[in-house]
Amino acid sequence: MVFKCQENSFLKQFESKVLRCEETKEPIVEYGKVSPFEGFQVVLEDTILFPAGGGQPHDTGYLNDEPVLQVLRKGSEALHFVKEPLEVGSMVSQRINWERRFDHMQQHSGQHLLSAILENEYNLPTTSWWLGADESFVELDSVKVADDVVQRVEDRCNDLIRQALPVTVKFCKADDPDLNEAHTRGLPKDCTEILRVINIKGVDENMCCGTHVSNLSQLQVIKLLGAEPGKKGKTNLRFLIGNRVTKTLQTMLEREKALTGLLKNEPSKHEDLVQKLQKNLKLTNKNLQNTLNELAQYEIEKIKNMAEKPKYVFMFKKEATPDFNRAICKGLDGEGIFLFLASEEPDKPKEGQIMIQGPEAHCNALGSQITEVLKGKGAFKNGKFQGKAGDLSGINKCKKLIEDYFNNLQ
Ligand SMILES: [Zn+2]
Repeated sequence: MVFKCQENSFLKQFESKVLRCEETKEPIVEYGKVSPFEGFQVVLEDTILFPAGGGQPHDTGYLNDEPVLQVLRKGSEALHFVKEPLEVGSMVSQRINWERRFDHMQQHSGQHLLSAILENEYNLPTTSWWLGADESFVELDSVKVADDVVQRVEDRCNDLIRQALPVTVKFCKADDPDLNEAHTRGLPKDCTEILRVINIKGVDENMCCGTHVSNLSQLQVIKLLGAEPGKKGKTNLRFLIGNRVTKTLQTMLEREKALTGLLKNEPSKHEDLVQKLQKNLKLTNKNLQNTLNELAQYEIEKIKNMAEKPKYVFMFKKEATPDFNRAICKGLDGEGIFLFLASEEPDKPKEGQIMIQGPEAHCNALGSQITEVLKGKGAFKNGKFQGKAGDLSGINKCKKLIEDYFNNLQ
């Protein structure tokens, strides 16, 4: 069946009769994202709401005031997904979410133009395509596409858009000899009964069930975003058409403005400034590392030189690095002192690193209690424990535990 939306892709309102209305739990699929749904599937005599097919996502809109969340093609019927039931036999008024539909028309007709230029002029046939929520891509049967080819294809497509070439739809019978000349690129199996050919004057003829613009000027502009490796032996060429170009440019401008605020300098300086910041950070980290090493040596000497050697050391330094803690452990190894060292994870302050070391009897007595309080993960190996603390909120309880244990020993 040929739907009204395929006869005239610019109809925004239409009246039609409800033929069937059945309960459904089939999920909603939106640009590849699946969401559960419970409601009704409505079949109408005819529809201006495009059911997903040929790579083009479904339309959304209204039946009277009832929002249509999805339209799917099943055989020769279009199923409209609504939350509330509609009366069979009644007339409903259909309205389309035109902004969404026109965006799909721009991306879809743009894909036909792009694929035609790639195949006819660069011998790069399209094997499939994807229309996403933000950007789209054509999958090309080639391992690589050179940057200069991408640039030339973009220029060529924009040139044809400026020429405002007409885009027309014709309906053919299966035995029409004209059909041999038309491609069947991207044609889904359930569309084969609809022999519908989209023609871009002098550029391309393609069998397709989708909705299209009526001339190329309606695409406004095409921007290719780059070629990337796709599935084995294929390349994905990402693109934006029409409104998506200005929308994306706006997002980029806002991001750039935010960066200008953060870096306190104009966009042309951003790259240099970030490089400088990265270099400084590296140097600062190196200095911090050296300072922490010196501090570790100082702590070790201080403990070793105490008039009375301590039985235990409890050290919780939030900003300590694993290297700092390891240096302390190494420096006091064999001194017969029980060591407990802890530090915070830089990006997750509730979690941290812990190290325990010392005489076996103390480790056996305290180890499991400490790991329980701090939700520690790890194991004792050769009298040493190095692991993660899942919850540092018990650190004071842990300190008390160690203090009490050694006070009771005396
Ligand atoms: Zn198509």
